[in-house]
Amino acid sequence: MAQSVKRAYKYRFHPTPGQAQELARTFGCVRLVYNKALQERTRAYTVEGRRISCVETSAALTQWKKTPELAFLSEVSSVPLQQALRHLQASFANFFARRAKYPAFKSRKKSRASAEYTRSAFTWRAGRLTLAKMDGPLDVVWSRPLPEGAQPSTVTVSKDAAGRWFVSLLVEETIRPLEPVDAWVGADAGITSLLTLSTGEKVTNPKHERADRRRLAKAQRNLARKAKGSGNRAKARLKVARAHARIADRRRDHLHKLTTRLVRENQTVVIEDLTVRTMVKNHSLARAISDASWRELRSMLQYKAQWYGRDLVVIDRWFPSSKLCSACGAVQQSMPLGVRTWQCACGATHDRDVSAAQNILAAGLAER
Ligand SMILES: [Zn+2]
Repeated sequence: MAQSVKRAYKYRFHPTPGQAQELARTFGCVRLVYNKALQERTRAYTVEGRRISCVETSAALTQWKKTPELAFLSEVSSVPLQQALRHLQASFANFFARRAKYPAFKSRKKSRASAEYTRSAFTWRAGRLTLAKMDGPLDVVWSRPLPEGAQPSTVTVSKDAAGRWFVSLLVEETIRPLEPVDAWVGADAGITSLLTLSTGEKVTNPKHERADRRRLAKAQRNLARKAKGSGNRAKARLKVARAHARIADRRRDHLHKLTTRLVRENQTVVIEDLTVRTMVKNHSLARAISDASWRELRSMLQYKAQWYGRDLVVIDRWFPSSKLCSACGAVQQSMPLGVRTWQCACGATHDRDVSAAQNILAAGLAER
């Protein structure tokens, strides 16, 4: 059955100096409103032991706008400010449902600057997008087409640490499930190879990543040598952010292609739940990147499987997948990380990663 899903299409854009200024001001107001409402909610929660509703924070915002020191909040579009309150509300709902930590303040330096516009705060005509309080449309780089006749319901503008501007358009789309196929695959996450499949295939990290990573490490060393507060330090920080962004972009692109392929080719995809592993403190760069891409890969598999009528099975991470012989079922006592291939007492020889992927698949099929 075809289903209707909301899908975000993200593009880069180049603001005019006037638009950049308006957006920077809006980002600042969004951050201020979010932080002020968070402070208010925290006070009510800790001092009065009560929860503040969205209606209350919304009324508070109206009051803030009437005070001389916060009157400037009325100068930007009110919609992104309202949306900031909704996001805060959602964060609290997640916190109370024990799905997330207590909401944190947005910092000017560390948080991603963004503003969300709903239907009443932008116009979309003939493929041109104009935001509230702006006199002209955004100069968007349409790197891929929007679906035919798409009507964006929400538009999010953001600027990353590398100084790049993005606009994300949320559109409703009809997705038809794929024809069922008679194939299954298990996938094991690694660091040197991104994924090992139960079919024996090893999916490597994107090309050029090694070089990109070297460039990033060099930029980080360079940044560490710069004096705090200096102009050179700001430049060095931007270089680090750009190197990070480049790696993340290429990874994401790679992951999109990989997950689409896995979901197309298989009816069931089995992976391991690595959430606990990622909590282990490890400061290696390779580790941090591989953990981030694992989370991304899992969420892509999750929604794509749902879109296309496939199954994603996530098995418990404590399953001794690399130590289990897929031929006889015996479990090895120990398996040092350096061991890449091993032979079981039954005579079967295993590639450590392939065997892990095969066992993950078997466990997933058993669990289903
Ligand atoms: Zn065996």
